[in-house]
Amino acid sequence: MELCCELCQLGKGAAVDVTEVKVKLVEANRDRLKAFCTMTLDGEFVVRDLKLIEGTSGLFVAMPSRKLADRCPSCGGKNHLRARHCNNCGAQLDDTRGGTDKDGRPKLHADIAHPINSSCREKIQKAIEKAYHEEVERSKLPGYRPVSLDEDDTDYHPEPSHGESSRGKGRKFGEGIL
Ligand SMILES: [Zn+2]
Repeated sequence: MELCCELCQLGKGAAVDVTEVKVKLVEANRDRLKAFCTMTLDGEFVVRDLKLIEGTSGLFVAMPSRKLADRCPSCGGKNHLRARHCNNCGAQLDDTRGGTDKDGRPKLHADIAHPINSSCREKIQKAIEKAYHEEVERSKLPGYRPVSLDEDDTDYHPEPSHGESSRGKGRKFGEGIL
């Protein structure tokens, strides 16, 4: 199919660009977590829930991830890998059952979205670090208002609204904000 081939050609060698980063700073001294971030790729694809973390060798970006879970061997109930006892039946669980990562730490989370090569990883890392430092500078100015990453999705309507919108989502401009 012609369309298919065109798309394939377009995709070849075309690197993704980080076109926007939003940074919500985390208050100082709270763990090593410095900020939550949302990034836009090529002006049309948004990835949320990135974290900027202060590591032993500088800042690094943690990709959005989900907690890994498994099934209890006794009752089949689902438990987070960190659980030592089954939430459902209370059976003791083997706390090494999840295995470890390459650094020997327990593997408890899996990335939901992530770059697959180092040049893309570096590009994301640079864009987010830059946005973070800019946001830190901005935060020192009088009248600074932190970015809100949650009220940002007015275009996103996971469920049709039936007059009664939950938590203000799907609100149109000008509709009662009381
Ligand atoms: Zn169980």
